[in-house]
Amino acid sequence: MLSSPIVYLKGVGPQRAELLQKELNIFTFNDLLHHFPYRHVDKTKITTVAEAEFMLHSGGKQDAYAQFVGVLGPFEVIGEKRARRLVSYLKDKTGTIELVWFSAIHLIQKILRPGTPYIAYGRLSSFQNKVQIVHPEMELWAPEKLAGKSYLEPIYPSTEKLKAKNLGGKQIGNLIQALLPQLTPNDLPENLPANVINNLKLISRFEAYQYIHFPPSQQHYLAALRRLKFEEIFMAQMRLNLLRSQRHRFSKGVVFEIVGHYFNTFYKNHLPFELTGAQKRVLREIRNDTARGRQMNRLLQGDVGSGKTIVALLSMLLAADNNYQSVMMAPTEILARQHFQGIADLLKDMDIRVALLTGSVKGKERKSILQGVSDGSIQLLIGTHAVIEDAVQFKNLGLVIIDEQHRFGVAQRARLWEKNEIPPHVLVMTATPIPRTLAMTAYGDLDYSVIDELPPGRQPVHTIHRYDHERSLVMDFLKAEIAKGRQVYIIFPLIEESSKLDYENLMRGYEEIKTYFPEPQYWISVVHGKQPAAQKEENMRRFVVHDTQIMVSTTVIEVGVNVPNATVMVIESAEKFGLSQLHQLRGRVGRGSEKSYCILLTSRKLSNDARERMKIMTATTNGFEIAEKDLELRGPGDIEGTRQSGMLNFKLANIVNDRSMVDAAKKVCEDLLTDDPDLMKPENEPLKLYLQSQKGKTIWSKIS
Ligand code: ADP
Ligand code: MG
Repeated sequence: MLSSPIVYLKGVGPQRAELLQKELNIFTFNDLLHHFPYRHVDKTKITTVAEAEFMLHSGGKQDAYAQFVGVLGPFEVIGEKRARRLVSYLKDKTGTIELVWFSAIHLIQKILRPGTPYIAYGRLSSFQNKVQIVHPEMELWAPEKLAGKSYLEPIYPSTEKLKAKNLGGKQIGNLIQALLPQLTPNDLPENLPANVINNLKLISRFEAYQYIHFPPSQQHYLAALRRLKFEEIFMAQMRLNLLRSQRHRFSKGVVFEIVGHYFNTFYKNHLPFELTGAQKRVLREIRNDTARGRQMNRLLQGDVGSGKTIVALLSMLLAADNNYQSVMMAPTEILARQHFQGIADLLKDMDIRVALLTGSVKGKERKSILQGVSDGSIQLLIGTHAVIEDAVQFKNLGLVIIDEQHRFGVAQRARLWEKNEIPPHVLVMTATPIPRTLAMTAYGDLDYSVIDELPPGRQPVHTIHRYDHERSLVMDFLKAEIAKGRQVYIIFPLIEESSKLDYENLMRGYEEIKTYFPEPQYWISVVHGKQPAAQKEENMRRFVVHDTQIMVSTTVIEVGVNVPNATVMVIESAEKFGLSQLHQLRGRVGRGSEKSYCILLTSRKLSNDARERMKIMTATTNGFEIAEKDLELRGPGDIEGTRQSGMLNFKLANIVNDRSMVDAAKKVCEDLLTDDPDLMKPENEPLKLYLQSQKGKTIWSKIS
């Protein structure tokens, strides 16, 4: 029944069916059933223009929707280009409201008849002190329209093309009204176990679908919403948990049986500091994971500077102790090189072979590395994505570490996976803090570790927001810091990798900075995406060895670079950056023992959002807190690394606003699977059947 093509529904002909498919992706009865209203109107309530004016001008509700009855006035097209619009008005006994359309201008003029009474419905706004509705829902008025309809009428998302075929936001409701009576509880069988329904006092699935569309009352609507949101979140959790538990039980992994010579020698003799509690905990988790003969697939999150690299290194030594090779992959050449130098330095007194492989390693050197990797004499390979090329053949790869995971595509990761007969263990490290709720939803099938403790002695970076016209004061401050022997970063936004505009912007900034900091008293490194790798490298190097005091750069230095003597980070046009990016950049300073500063330079004109971002940045240095705020400001769809996850495409639930429900669903799900891991108990049969029927609806790669 629900899988029937939409064309078979009463009121839908071939033409409408095609439009519904094209415009709203509605192919079947089921799709229509899941086309949920975005609000309901009290159909019996007609607002007068005078009432609406009062409401708006008395500083009334921001988000007010209302319907009016009146006669439609003549049309007029005004404005040019993007401001071109169709304008008319609706006149009732108390006044007129303006009606405005920005698109489908011709269509609207063809369909609507000036001089005729209409019901106009929409969101009220005020423009030059007039009440206005942009893209109103228009329906021919007839007095009987008010009689005999349900009390709360649903309004659906629609499009101008559909409106032209009489399928506007209200009229789609007619189709749903035709569909609902045809459904029986058999079409929408219960899929949650009875005890869950009872404990949480949820209404049945069948009822929920009725009431979400046509609720007899507000309470009915809310009950339906609650039930369906819970179901949505719960089923997503269930799928992820099942995937994970299947991986835990059935995947084969190489076994790191012992903690041996390499690990112990390094830990006792060469580890330059005491590990933090969090680092130790994560190491234990990795040790446990890799010892049991199942494949580890773990996400390691830790704020910038929390010390993920050393955890990675110790894990690689663990692999070496068990005669397995490791590879560590970084997103950029600079980072890979830095990892290599740091690690080679730490291991210099040990008898272990480490190599660096990047795109710029060529000829004899490359040949020798490939040889060492394939005969197993190189135990630790560090590199860029050059390490996933087919030419790179490992003797026995046991561990893959991916630094800054969001820079790698799923496909790239999958290639590493295939480099051993039994898939190697995978540790994905990220410094982009992901709020816990999101992490568990987006990466629910990965195991998850977090380093939530910074090494001792770190001072928070003092963060200040300044406007452009205060620039010379900022430059004076930089001079004072440089006079103390410190170094500074000045960062320009990078809108598009190596685009011309960014480059010119950066160069203009560089020229200006040079006037404040003339040679030979000052030396400046410039790094940007348009430079050849070698030149970039050289400029970076000069800054690292303190040949230059100032680094002017686009965001290429965003990740990983480590210059402890740099104490000031100036971010130009800071309003152009997102929160997590600002946080990442700020993480470049505050790495040494000196007090560090981050100065956010912006223009005076700021959007509310940008102002909020500056406020958050100056208020906290906690990456997780910032990530939570980022999530609130931008919504989950935009958070780095989660875009393709699919798990976030909830129709009703919202991972930010419904967080308590996410937590509840998670708990219910875990309890249920602890009690009945394979869903064998009869009371869980409906759930099992439902999940089976949904198979193939989400695509999951082996490494999420
Ligand atoms: P990230 O997590 O951002 O990759 P790194 O691994 O680069 O951080 O570590 C940042 C700095 O902190 C490095 O200089 C590293 O040597 C140092 N560090 C890491 N762990 C500790 C620790 N437990 N105690 C002191 N310093 C540490
Ligand atoms: Mg790092």
